[in-house]
Amino acid sequence: MEFSILLGQWYEENKRDLPWRGETDPYKIWVSEIILQQTRVNQGWDYYLRFTQQFPTVKALAGAPIEEVLKVWQGLGYYSRARNMHFTAQLVMNEHGGRFPHDYQQIRALKGIGDYTAAAIASIAFHLPYPAVDGNVLRFVCRLMGIRDNIMLGSTKQRVTEHCRHLMADMDPGTFNQAMMEFGATCCTPQSPQCHTCPFSAQCYAFQNQLTDTLPIVIKNVKIKKRYFNYLFFVHNQKTLLEQRSGNDIWKNLFQLPLVECDSTAFDIEQYLAEQHIPYSAAREVLALKHQLTHQTLFVKFYQIDCEELPIFFPHAFPIPIKDLPNYAVARPTEELLKRLKEEG
Ligand code: SF4
Repeated sequence: MEFSILLGQWYEENKRDLPWRGETDPYKIWVSEIILQQTRVNQGWDYYLRFTQQFPTVKALAGAPIEEVLKVWQGLGYYSRARNMHFTAQLVMNEHGGRFPHDYQQIRALKGIGDYTAAAIASIAFHLPYPAVDGNVLRFVCRLMGIRDNIMLGSTKQRVTEHCRHLMADMDPGTFNQAMMEFGATCCTPQSPQCHTCPFSAQCYAFQNQLTDTLPIVIKNVKIKKRYFNYLFFVHNQKTLLEQRSGNDIWKNLFQLPLVECDSTAFDIEQYLAEQHIPYSAAREVLALKHQLTHQTLFVKFYQIDCEELPIFFPHAFPIPIKDLPNYAVARPTEELLKRLKEEG
């Protein structure tokens, strides 16, 4: 049987009875979608009823003081949602004559409304064919189609949106979107999806290939920290300074040349030596490299500083013959320096 027929039948038989179900007023659809962005259905239920009772129209919301709006929102968290709604309600009053825009692009342009919410409002209130792809829909379609791309990527969302666009062709867009979200939320759940009662099991790639535990692929975007390391390679009479790393940081207990860590690439070796009153005869950059760790990108530079005597400025550093450097455990960037020194004899 066709996908849209199966989906429509499933939705008719299984949809939950929610206070915003069947709503066609774009304002109330908007309120429900914003509340549900970061809130579970059970918790959002009362807030939706209270909010729409207190502010039954976009005009009522626009005319209310922001303090009153925040009071009704109290306890729901993510207060920027309430502030954006208030701002947008006033904009709808001032620039759209109090009428919620009927056009997807205009809805999408409103503050606090992203792709998903714009598609939900446009499809449910105005029957416009825009797929609303939330996390539930992403999971369902990735399993159904066997999509192995990371669902945290925008390109994956785009791909799933395109699939949905084809799948929704035979259905009312608003019903399609609500049915897809409902199916993902209640049947094709993250853990223990109900495959044995699922109307799509015969055509579901994940089920047919025992991949329901594997799909969808979720690789969270880990924030990569940038760090800027400047190593000082003092040279005097075939000797240099070395120190051991300590503290709760990378490369703990490994050895290194004296290190100056900065917030950016703006490090001037001559200025640094002058400011620290470290006497030297010549200073130059001898190696620059980028080193990638799991959660950090290191921008590393080595400076060779020829001097009349090794400075006593670095309290934990100790002098060693340069030829002994390879005997110490060092991190990869310093290994690169040693390799370079060896090549240059
Ligand atoms: S068979 Fe299972 S994994 Fe596939 S769509 Fe249905 S519930 Fe989801």
